[in-house]
Amino acid sequence: MRQLTYDGMPIPGLNDLVRTAIRLHPAPGVPGPDESHFGGPLLWPSDEPWPECPVTWPPDPDASDDAWAGGHPLDEPVPAMVGAAQFFRDDFPELPFPEGTDVLQMLFCPMEHDSLHHQGPAVRLIWRDSGEVRDVAEPPPAPEDAKAAYLPEPCVFEPCSIDELPRLCDFPAETRSALGIPEGAGDEPEGWPELDHYSKIGGWTAWGATDRSELGCRECGAELRQTIALATEEHEVGCGCEADEGEPAGWTFSRQGALNVFTCPADVTHPFKVRID
Ligand SMILES: [Zn+2]
Ligand SMILES: [Zn+2]
Ligand SMILES: [Zn+2]
Repeated sequence: MRQLTYDGMPIPGLNDLVRTAIRLHPAPGVPGPDESHFGGPLLWPSDEPWPECPVTWPPDPDASDDAWAGGHPLDEPVPAMVGAAQFFRDDFPELPFPEGTDVLQMLFCPMEHDSLHHQGPAVRLIWRDSGEVRDVAEPPPAPEDAKAAYLPEPCVFEPCSIDELPRLCDFPAETRSALGIPEGAGDEPEGWPELDHYSKIGGWTAWGATDRSELGCRECGAELRQTIALATEEHEVGCGCEADEGEPAGWTFSRQGALNVFTCPADVTHPFKVRID
């Protein structure tokens, strides 16, 4: 493998920092329940209750670990969630599907929720065996007071793969010292490739206004890993594809940012965390 250099110098550990992300390139479409998509119908069994928002007060600890600061009162109706994304293993084997599952379903509660780290929709992840679904459920209507910014337009994907290097806050300590970056420095070294916003599987987090904090797994302590990014804007980064840019999904997260899902590398069913940045 080519030894990566910086400023002409081979840097220990630099090669290990490259992560290959799958850029999704969402484009408006009419996906079915047996396809990967944003905002289309989910392959949800009709005999299984449709999920409700996990951010009741107190929140559902099995759904996520997002340090919620409040929630829907339990003595009022809890909002039904809406389908946000669906990823089949056949299309995205890079996702860490638990054994016996072959589709990941992502749902939003399309309202504003406050956590210590971000503000936005509440998220559930469901890892499912598509072979067990007989009749597909008719989803309930979105809650009346849903935020339009959290209701995606149906999109299909035209994925490509792209190599990424991390932002400074994700550099391991040995790479920082090899590059001579002082503790507390805020900027990447000059000439470092920029990590821009686009929807993707895997790769590194395109931190903007914030950086990595409190991303340890509540169950086992492992550092959670960037797994899914849903971008407000699909930025051009020269991946070579002739794909739509702009905002095909029509969703808008805080500061025009990306909704990033972090999962546990030891066990993806441990509580995940979301950061919108
Ligand atoms: Zn909610
Ligand atoms: Zn864990
Ligand atoms: Zn591309």
